[in-house]
Amino acid sequence: MLIKEARFLVSNQKADKCPPPKMPEYAFIGRSNVGKSSLINMLCNSKKLAKTSSTPGKTQLINHFIINQSWYLVDLPGYGYAKVAKTQRAKFGRMIMDYLATRENLMCLFILVDSRIEPQTIDLEFMRKMGEAQIPFCLIFTKVDKLKKQGSLQLIEKYMQSLTEDWEELPQYFISSAEKGTGRDEILQFIEQINST
Ligand code: GDP
Repeated sequence: MLIKEARFLVSNQKADKCPPPKMPEYAFIGRSNVGKSSLINMLCNSKKLAKTSSTPGKTQLINHFIINQSWYLVDLPGYGYAKVAKTQRAKFGRMIMDYLATRENLMCLFILVDSRIEPQTIDLEFMRKMGEAQIPFCLIFTKVDKLKKQGSLQLIEKYMQSLTEDWEELPQYFISSAEKGTGRDEILQFIEQINST
């Protein structure tokens, strides 16, 4: 897919304040610092559409972007940032769940995980929650340029293998590097395919 236009629309704290669900929507989430903003910017060919965060955990809003006048890209707050107070975390946990559970035009949620680290409880629990709520999701392994060539895909395969404990059918996954542009075509093609059906 060619990205002709990517434009910020609105930020808000409530699912029911989001733009009317008239277009297909794709949301991105992951732990703070996973590389979400960088990935969004890479997908949209923009240097600063999504802010790359110098203070992780600060953007706690649902951010809507409109792409090619035909679909929404949504930047969700990063989860699991220790320095955010517990009550605050619970509050935006509810906000995210509310958004995910009610957004009827949400075609797929991309859950980002850092390709260099072992499966983290917080991510696995989040995936379980998505399964329970029947929210369609894919995984994106980020920062693959930082992996040593040898054994890199093994790490990812091991990660996927660990999911077989929870999942009969494994989620689709992508590998990405915002530095190198890896995964851009595959992710955009995936979105395009859903949009055209
Ligand atoms: P966010 O908090 O999930 O939005 O993460 P950011 O996009 O702000 O990225 C966090 C840090 O990881 C920044 O220092 C980025 O430069 C770095 N980073 C993000 N993506 C990549 C990548 O694909 N490769 C490399 N080498 N660094 C990355």
